[in-house]
Amino acid sequence: MRSADYDVVVLGTGAAGLTAALRAAADGASVGLFEKAETVGGTTAWSGGVSWLPLNRHEQEAGIADDRETVLTYLDSLSHGLIDPDLAAAFVDTAPEAVDWLEANSPVVFETVRGLSDYHPEHPGGRREGRSVECPLFPFDELGEWAARVTRGYQLTGDIAMSETPLGRRAPDGVPASELARRRQRDERGCGQALVGRLLRGLLDRGVVPRTGCRGERLLVEDGGGRRARSTCGPPAASSSRPEASSTIRTSCGRSSGVRWSARSAFPRTPATGCAWPCGWAPRSAPCARRGGWRRSTCRSRGTASCPGR
Ligand SMILES: Cc1cc2nc3c(=O)[nH]c(=O)nc-3n(C[C@H](O)[C@H](O)[C@H](O)COP(=O)(O)OP(=O)(O)OC[C@H]3O[C@@H](n4cnc5c(N)ncnc54)[C@H](O)[C@@H]3O)c2cc1C
Repeated sequence: MRSADYDVVVLGTGAAGLTAALRAAADGASVGLFEKAETVGGTTAWSGGVSWLPLNRHEQEAGIADDRETVLTYLDSLSHGLIDPDLAAAFVDTAPEAVDWLEANSPVVFETVRGLSDYHPEHPGGRREGRSVECPLFPFDELGEWAARVTRGYQLTGDIAMSETPLGRRAPDGVPASELARRRQRDERGCGQALVGRLLRGLLDRGVVPRTGCRGERLLVEDGGGRRARSTCGPPAASSSRPEASSTIRTSCGRSSGVRWSARSAFPRTPATGCAWPCGWAPRSAPCARRGGWRRSTCRSRGTASCPGR
C-alpha cells in the first residue's frame, strides 16, 4: 500500500477529467490525475470532439444572432421536463467563460464548426450553426512520448477536423491527398484527438503527468471533512495478472473530483422510440422517460465496442 497527498484528485482522462485537472492546476493546486486504462483520452479521444458551447465568442464574432433566452428555450424543448432549469441556466451562463478560460490558459483553441446545426434546429430556439465548436488540428509530435499513449478509436481519430467531414462545410470535396500527406509529417490530428492532445499538452506544461493503469476504487470520507480516494494501479482487473500496487490518495483540501458517467443525467431525452443506436441500445421513449435511463431496444442489432449503453 502506497499513499500520496494531493489537493485535488481527478479520476479519468477524458475531456471532463483533463479539463478539471487543468483548472485545478492553474489555480495552484497539486493534482493527481489517474486513469484506469493504459492510455489517456477515454471516449473523448474516439469522439468528433465537437463541443456544444452556446454563446461562445466565436459564434458572436461570426455575427450569428443568439441569446441566453433562445438557448434556454432550445434546451427546454429537448427536456421533456427533466432538465433542471437552474443547471441549464448555469451551463448556458458559464459555457462562454469555459471557452475563454481554456483559450487563455492552455493550448486549447476553438473554432466554429461552420454548417453544423444543433441536433434539432427545427425546435424552438434551435440554430443552424454557431453553437458547436471544435479544436483545429493539433500536431501530436508536440506530445513527445505521450503521442503514442493517447487512445485511438476506430472512427474520427484521424487527420481531419469535423468541419471537413460531411457534417461541416470546410472541405465539401474532401481533403486533398497532398494536404493529408503534409499533415502526416507532424502527426496532425483532428476531432477528439485534437481536443485531448491540446488538453494533455496543457497539463504536461503545468507538470501534471497522468498515471495510467490506475483505477479509482472508493472515495473515503473522514471525520473533519478530509477525503481519501483509493485506487489500484496495475493491469486491469480483467487481466490474469495481479495489480502492482494499491494506493490511498488523500485530497488534503477536502475536494475531490471523479468521473461518474450516467446516461440518465448526461443526455436529454429525445422522442426516439425505435432503435436509434446501431449497437442495440436506445434512449427510453417519451412515455418511459419518467424513469430515465436506457432500455434494450427490441431490434436485433449486435453490440459493438463503442456502444455507449454497455
Ligand atoms: C464515435 C463517437 C463520437 C462522438 N462525438 C461527439 C461529439 O462530437 N461531441 C460530443 O459532445 N460528444 C461526442 N461523443 C460523446 C463524447 O465522446 C462523450 O460524451 C465524452 O467524451 C465524455 O467525456 P468524459 O470526459 O465525461 O468521459 P470519457 O472521455 O469517456 O473519459 C472517462 C475516462 O475515465 C476513465 N475512468 C472511468 N472510471 C475510472 C476509474 N474508476 N478510475 C480511473 N479512471 C476511470 C475511463 O477509462 C476514461 O478514460 C462521441 C462519442 C463517440 C463514441
